[in-house]
This record gives sequence, structure tokens and C-alpha cells, in this order.
Amino acid sequence: MQIPLPEYTKLIDSGELHIKFEPSLDIVMIVVIHSTKLGPTLGGCRMVEYPDLDSAILDAVRLARGMSFKAAMCQMALGGGKSVIIKSSKIQDTSNREKVFEIFGRFVEDLGGRYITAVDSGTTITDMEIAAKHTKYVSSRAASGNPAPFTAHGVRRAIQAAVKFKLGRDDIQGIHVAIQGVGHVGYNLAKELHKLGAKLTVNDINHESVQRCVDEFNATPVSAEEIITQRCDVYAPCALGGAINDDTVKTLDCDIVCGAANNQLLELHHGEMLHQRDILYTPDYVINAGGLIHCGTPFVGLSDAQRHEKIEQIYGNTMAIFERADKEQKPTAIVADLIAKERLGL
Ligand code: NAD
Repeated sequence: MQIPLPEYTKLIDSGELHIKFEPSLDIVMIVVIHSTKLGPTLGGCRMVEYPDLDSAILDAVRLARGMSFKAAMCQMALGGGKSVIIKSSKIQDTSNREKVFEIFGRFVEDLGGRYITAVDSGTTITDMEIAAKHTKYVSSRAASGNPAPFTAHGVRRAIQAAVKFKLGRDDIQGIHVAIQGVGHVGYNLAKELHKLGAKLTVNDINHESVQRCVDEFNATPVSAEEIITQRCDVYAPCALGGAINDDTVKTLDCDIVCGAANNQLLELHHGEMLHQRDILYTPDYVINAGGLIHCGTPFVGLSDAQRHEKIEQIYGNTMAIFERADKEQKPTAIVADLIAKERLGL
């Protein structure tokens, strides 16, 4: 008899789901190993609240699958994994938090290196240092540095590829880029673009972050509404997922969408809608891989020069998608998924 299966089972492909319970702390930990076809899996550990276990598993599965696609597109010898710790009120206490990450470290170690963890929403470098006392499979250590500048550099290279493909320009002098979210990645992106002579418009819910870009890069601050409606060459979503949705897909007045945020398309069909409006979309997981390349470098044995080269290659990876999308008359988001699935054998 066919039993009804939760939605996540369709997305896990041939991967694995590992769950650990710690009743004394009301804790549930989930590790999803989506695909090891290309190498050991790497992905962050998210610690947030969820309404139920299935929602947490679905989140972990979606994120792990996304990491497989990201690693496949930047040709790192890594697979996609992700972990989720369902946040409970007992974690507020500092000593309990330490216990959680000790248990988490042992959980990761027991998986024998098939999953390498890292910082994500709700976790910190301090948490990872505690886990690292119990496992060597931790990529976000205090000594490894912030991945955001590496992510920003890859996004800047993708903007250059998009400007070349769409506008026929080899330089970005005077190109108008509207950055939504100038946190770790958005700030570093603004810095790189400013150096190359781009004109910047910025928006962030954090006033200080905006002011820093005004002071340092002569950026123009705008409201939340203006950032998604004004005329610009490039709209760069660098805050949250879902930036391209039913509303924004109609209001955007740009030639290119190219930013760091994960899961920019609320639904895949929003990529199709951008295509119909002749707006060139650079698929997020292809262009924001700089952080993954940085974090994965010690685990795949790359030198610093090879790491730099891999991040530079984001230009060529992005261009290859534009060219195939043009040839096959398909949206870039669809083409990126096709290439990733081909490489993963899905
Ligand atoms: P961050 O938290 O440092 O920055 C996000 C910024 O967005 C913050 O300044 C915040 O105030 C702002 N923000 C939040 N909601 C907003 C809204 N509604 N409107 C405008 N601004 C808003 O995060 P980050 O590390 O810079 O990452 C940014 C995005 O890039 C995230 O989607 C993240 O998943 C993705 N990403 C980051 C990395 C990395 O290396 N950090 C790698 C890959 C992808």
C-alpha cells in the first residue's frame, strides 16, 4: 500500500535525513545530506523556530538541495548538505547553548565527514568553535575569516558578465546599480562597484548601514519603494529571499537582476516573468557561490590562488548560462537548474 509521504521526500532525491533528539534540552537537530556525488556535503547550520518537525525538515531539505546545485555550478568537489536545530526556549541560557553545540559537534562527527557544517541564520562563530572541539568537520572557524567579501567579489564578476552580455559593455563605469540590503555582502559589493566607477543607489532597513555607503561610496539613499521602482541598469537584491515576486516583477525598471540574496525568485515562474519582460536574471546560486568556495577551500585542498581563480570563474559560469538560455530561448533560471541537474545526475 502506498502511504502518503511529506513534501520533503520528493526533494531529497537519493539523499539522507538524520535526526537527533535531546529531550533534556527540548532540542531536535536535523542534518540533510542531499548529494555526495561530487564530494562531501557542505552547508550551514540554521537555528530558528519552526511550527513543527515537518516544516523544519522541509527547510533543511530545500536548503541542502540548493547547496548541491550551488556547488555543482561552481565546480567545487562538494555536495549539498544543511543542518537545522529547532530553537527551543532552553537555548536562551548560555550554558545550555554550549551543551547544544557540543551535542551537535558529536552528531556531525558521527556522520564521518560526509557533512561539513558552517554558520547560518541563528548560529555564530562561537557556536562553531564549540562544535569544533568535537568534530573536525566545521568550516566557519574564527581563523577562517568572513566569507562575505568573497561572495561580494563573485557577485561583482557576475554583474560584469551581465553588463557585457546585455549592454555590450566591457566596463562598469557609470553603470547604475541599485543595491537592496547593504549588510555584510551588500556593503562589500558596493565597495567593489564604487572602485570601478559604478553609480550606486542603496536601501536598507538599517539606517547606519545606508549612511556608511553614502559616506564612503557617495551612494544615493532611497526608500524601500524606490529601490524596486526606479530606473537603473542593475537591481541587486542583497537582503532576503523572495525579492522577485508577483509585485516586484511588475515594478522593476532595470535591465539586469544580479544580487547576492539566496532564493531571490519567490517561485520559479518569476524567472519566466523576468524573461518575458526582457530583464536578464543571473541565477542566485550561480553567482553567490564565493562564500561556499571560500568555506570549502580547506576541505577540497585548494590553494589561495586556486580559490581566487574559482571565484573569478563565476564570470564565465554566468556567461555560459546566458549563452545557452539565448540559444535555447529559455529563462536563465531554468537553464541553471538544467545544468546543475545534469551535473548531479538528477
Ligand atoms: P546581512 O544580514 O549582513 O545583511 C543583510 C542586510 O539586509 C542587513 O543590512 C539588513 O538590515 C538588510 N535588510 C533586511 N531586511 C531588509 C529589507 N526588507 N529591506 C532592505 N534591507 C533589508 O547578510 P549578508 O551576509 O550580507 O547576506 C545577504 C544575503 O546574501 C542573504 O540572503 C544571504 O543568504 C545571502 N548570501 C550571503 C553569503 C555570505 O557570504 N554572507 C553567501 C551567499 C549568500
